[in-house]
Amino acid sequence: MSVEKRPYFILFTSLVMLSAGCGSLLSGITGSHNVGSEQTQPNDPAADADDATENEPSKPADAAPEPPERENAAQEHPGTDKPDVKPEKPPVDKPNSPPEREGPVQETAGKIGDLMVVANPDSLAVLINKQYTLPENYEPEDLVYPDVPFIFSEKVDKRKLRKEAAEALEELFAGAKEDGIELAGVSGYRSYERQKELFESYVKRDGEEKARTYSALPGTSEHQTGLSIDVSGSDGRCAAQDCFAGTPEAEWLAEHAAEYGFIIRYPEGKEDITGYKYEPWHIRYVGLEIAKEIAERNITLEEYYQAVPVSGK
Ligand SMILES: [Zn+2]
Repeated sequence: MSVEKRPYFILFTSLVMLSAGCGSLLSGITGSHNVGSEQTQPNDPAADADDATENEPSKPADAAPEPPERENAAQEHPGTDKPDVKPEKPPVDKPNSPPEREGPVQETAGKIGDLMVVANPDSLAVLINKQYTLPENYEPEDLVYPDVPFIFSEKVDKRKLRKEAAEALEELFAGAKEDGIELAGVSGYRSYERQKELFESYVKRDGEEKARTYSALPGTSEHQTGLSIDVSGSDGRCAAQDCFAGTPEAEWLAEHAAEYGFIIRYPEGKEDITGYKYEPWHIRYVGLEIAKEIAERNITLEEYYQAVPVSGK
């Protein structure tokens, strides 16, 4: 978020002046991030196993009143909503002042609706969330089948990952096994078309407004990158469900995933930043260097990109 001190001050002042309005704004933002999941929802006979399981934990009962899209828009705009605020001095006059933003920036190339389209969908570090979407119909070109066990036997798309992520996953599974932890894949790659089918089936059943509270718009599921996979223990118990938290498998992943270039993409306590509730089973390949930095700093991919305001910093 490229918000400098002055706009932040003005934003803060505005929020204070709004007083009651402030609370509703903030709660609205928080609500929008707590609702929904990249997945679908449980108990849908049309959904396949991974969809059903993965979505179950992500359907908070209080989700319905929040209009997520508007709030996402509200959140992504503070950095750009200030064209009338002129800096007193151009930055060149202050060569010694440190920049507000450090580190990488998620480049974009246009918009689809309220969503910013990422310019680098093939980047191993691409940021996909409720603000940043893949280009429509994006499909990775190097999808392969990682040689690891899954909780199902069919050789289907959701076994696939991009090549580098697949190789890293094989090493991760081997490392876990050495520590006595037997892992299994639950759901990896998911195509734009598959997400579209799922999303549309929920719109048909529940209406679009409600569907958006628990199912990702096509293009905004990180599974479409081919860099994410849901993982469980080899028995498949608690696969992509809240009860996976605290299992030896979940603890092993939290401790060791970064050693193989993966991050726990939706950590506990970061729901208002990632937009997703805690998903200890959803790991995302970003490469060794970034994974280690994210783990050491205890941040999210959003914070790595400074893509959202980070309070307390
Ligand atoms: Zn997932």
